[in-house]
Amino acid sequence: MQRTSAVYRKLFHIQPAFGDGSSQGFGSRRSPLSGCSGRLVIILLIAAFAVIRYFSTPAEVNHFTGRKQHLDLDHHAEIQMGLASRAEMAAQHGGLSPDASARSHVNRIGQKIVRSTDAGRTPYQFEFHLLADRQVVNAFALPGGQIFMTEALYRMLGSEDEIAGVLGHEIGHVVGRHSSEQIAKNNLFNGITTAIVIGATGSEGGYDAARMAQMVNQLVTLKYGRDDEIESDTLGVRFLIESGYDPEALIRVMAVLKKASGGSNRLEIMSTHPDPGNRAEHIRAEIEKYRAQRR
Ligand SMILES: [Zn+2]
Repeated sequence: MQRTSAVYRKLFHIQPAFGDGSSQGFGSRRSPLSGCSGRLVIILLIAAFAVIRYFSTPAEVNHFTGRKQHLDLDHHAEIQMGLASRAEMAAQHGGLSPDASARSHVNRIGQKIVRSTDAGRTPYQFEFHLLADRQVVNAFALPGGQIFMTEALYRMLGSEDEIAGVLGHEIGHVVGRHSSEQIAKNNLFNGITTAIVIGATGSEGGYDAARMAQMVNQLVTLKYGRDDEIESDTLGVRFLIESGYDPEALIRVMAVLKKASGGSNRLEIMSTHPDPGNRAEHIRAEIEKYRAQRR
């Protein structure tokens, strides 16, 4: 239930933005008209608006997955959000790796996959960043094409194909628009939590000002669900084959992660990318399926 705890963390981040905590809280002086029932109406309206907005956003069919998605952000907004959060994301992992040749190695592999697949025919601006962090084993993607791998993970991978496996999977998160989808869901949830917070504080001041910071915070704390991982693995396998890499490398990556989870490195990738054991079986099945289709 990591997603839920992230949402609760966000709730606590949001809270100070609504009123200064002294004059707006429980038991403060109120105008005669803003009794309990008036506040309840506002709470219900905001919650209802959040629900209606979520379900009235027209669902789009994703070109890569064939799945219908409710999204608040278009491609342009995704790209802007990714670029706006890029520096903050890197800073959380010690900035970019000082190893220039390793940095360009990672970017070259990523760009090769983009060039060879439909990922290159999207509006997304893909950039692949190697981060200096040698402790935390992780790779992640921001919406719009900003993709990151820590040095700790990079140094565990034995071949170019394995690096391509990780990057192909992350490209899958971008084109699968998983962050956007979660943001749309979180907005629904936030609309409801906002209603509760306003109900508790009797104020909605600062909401707009807090919104962008909150969005970035959401991106930094986003956790993908198991379905997103499976979908990204499926896309990763396809991208690897289409760009001439060995798709079995993705299975080896799973084994590397599993083995490493017994060590002392912080395997953050396990919390953002769940359950490597079952994923390996799924990847194997996808490879077989893809090869059968091409026979
Ligand atoms: Zn993933």
